[in-house]
Amino acid sequence: ATEADAADKDCLVRVAVRIRPQNSRELIDMCRICTTVTPGEQQIVLGSDKAFTFDYVYDVDSNQCDIYTECVERLVEGTLHGYNATVLAYGQTGSGKTYTMGTGLDPTSGDYRLGIIPRAIRHIFAGIERMQHPEDSDVSVTNSQFSVAVQFIELYNEDIIDLLDPFNKNSTFKIHESGNGEINIAGATIKPINEPQEALKFLQQGALARTTASTKMNDLSSRSHAVFTIFVRRQHVVEPKVNFVDSDFETLTSKFHFVDLAGSERLKRTLATGERAREGISINCGLLALGNCISALGDKSKKASHVPYRDSKLTRLLQDSLGGNSQTLMIACISPSDRDFMETLNTLKYANRAR
Ligand code: ADP
Ligand code: MG
Repeated sequence: ATEADAADKDCLVRVAVRIRPQNSRELIDMCRICTTVTPGEQQIVLGSDKAFTFDYVYDVDSNQCDIYTECVERLVEGTLHGYNATVLAYGQTGSGKTYTMGTGLDPTSGDYRLGIIPRAIRHIFAGIERMQHPEDSDVSVTNSQFSVAVQFIELYNEDIIDLLDPFNKNSTFKIHESGNGEINIAGATIKPINEPQEALKFLQQGALARTTASTKMNDLSSRSHAVFTIFVRRQHVVEPKVNFVDSDFETLTSKFHFVDLAGSERLKRTLATGERAREGISINCGLLALGNCISALGDKSKKASHVPYRDSKLTRLLQDSLGGNSQTLMIACISPSDRDFMETLNTLKYANRAR
């Protein structure tokens, strides 16, 4: 069995918390830091007494590389072996979701700043290379054929925007479930990829389409969910079991969703004010439904019970990659500053439900 196969399958959802450094505004305003990470433990204390324990806790001085290798790498390995995976970044606007995910890819920024998505892209191609190399000890995979493709969409108001074809206004994208439970978005662009550079180009192109729309529409990016998906298909010859068959192909397909969620302050604000705007309600509904699904998955006692995927487009879209054989990582991003105390408390409570 491979390392990925051995990954503890009963642990479906892991939760990481990442505290971003104070920004210059907070430094000028001399905001106090209200978060403390307990040394040697994956525990964060907010204020003086609100302690939470998670699978991983990253303090202000953490780096992109550590988060990738400690939390995400194993999920990528799983993807190469046919398992689906999902990484979600949750938190208030400005807490570091896009930075952590690498959804707003800036090609001019240094390598050490690269977020999860570009690292995963490189890793997938390196993994494929490694598995096809004749020196690989796992002989059964040396005759594998891999194909990789990407998709990049945005969910806004329960509407789907194709970030790889943003001017396509004709399509009404529908989430479709096939007989075997596989979810896909009918009509959304899927780009085949031959090398990491191509995938990075589409990531950048989609990120640009997202920010362009965002400046026009009063920071759309804080109000929408961005979902970047990598599809990996592996075909390999299996030894014939019956004499009259020469050889047979086995196909493993998997996908990895990277989700940069809408700002979590929306959830609270809409709940508090009962805002009736369509937007408020639907974003609230996506984050709420996600919280409910993840909490249902994490609750071992009611594992067999109902997971309410159908309550929002977001959870519907992620349905075949949350739970089941898939691995999920939720990264709760927070600010260290006391002015964000209540928002941070809400984020930690939301993330805590996932455990
Ligand atoms: P969000 O997507 O949650 O709204 P961003 O990822 O855009 O937040 O982060 C807000 C700002 O803080 C950005 O300028 C980003 O570069 C910076 N930032 C966030 N997290 C970190 C970090 N861990 N280290 C350095 N800068 C960060
Ligand atoms: Mg963002």
